Amino acid sequence: METDVNRRIYDVIAIGAHPDDVEAVMGGTVAKLAEKGRTVLLADLCDGEPTRHGVAGERGEQALRAAGILGADRVTLPFQDRMIEDTIAARIAIARLIRSHKPRMVFTTLGSGVHPDHKAVTDIVINGVFYARLPKWEAIPGAELLDGTQPHEIQRLFFGHCRMEPAWPSFDFAVDVTATYDRKLAALRAYEAVFSGDQAQLLDKYTVEDRYAGSLVGVRYAEAFKARSPLLVGDPEVFAGSRFG
Ligand SMILES: [Zn+2]
Repeated sequence: METDVNRRIYDVIAIGAHPDDVEAVMGGTVAKLAEKGRTVLLADLCDGEPTRHGVAGERGEQALRAAGILGADRVTLPFQDRMIEDTIAARIAIARLIRSHKPRMVFTTLGSGVHPDHKAVTDIVINGVFYARLPKWEAIPGAELLDGTQPHEIQRLFFGHCRMEPAWPSFDFAVDVTATYDRKLAALRAYEAVFSGDQAQLLDKYTVEDRYAGSLVGVRYAEAFKARSPLLVGDPEVFAGSRFG
């Protein structure tokens, strides 16, 4: 639920379908942004219940602990695990989140359909970001959730790689997360209700993928991203070096 973080301004919002998705996809990037003083809000579309290993409510506590480890805040939106769809209500909920917290950057996961919730969150966030910038919602019946909020246009929408799907052979950019990798793993390990029993090997799988992405860009661990729009820099010297140029 949106509680104490209801109206705070955040530099970055990272939106996942379920608690632990954002950690798996970009936990190292979140920790890195938080370390440099950026305010980061993690938003899950649902509480992730029922959880495969664990009783109801445990995953919520673990999610808060995981966000704390990364240096981020967290909110949970009221959608139902396994039944997430790109509906008008879901788009408006994301638009409200963006208009309330006014981030410069929004991240979500890019799912192509192994898990229907992961496919839905991509479309919901793309559409919610668009809705957030539109004026005059008060003239639209059914958009009352946006009452009292002002249009907000973000600077960038980035997608991380859904970890249930085959690794990307190429991407738009990667973040070197070698220095914050321990914190990513610590955040994921907070989810004892998720990563135990037959699911415990998932952490190893994520690590292998981050090593693979790192190997493509010449660092130990990297998280890969694609951009909604072509990337623009005012200064081409912002790029890190690459071994073969
Ligand atoms: Zn998920």
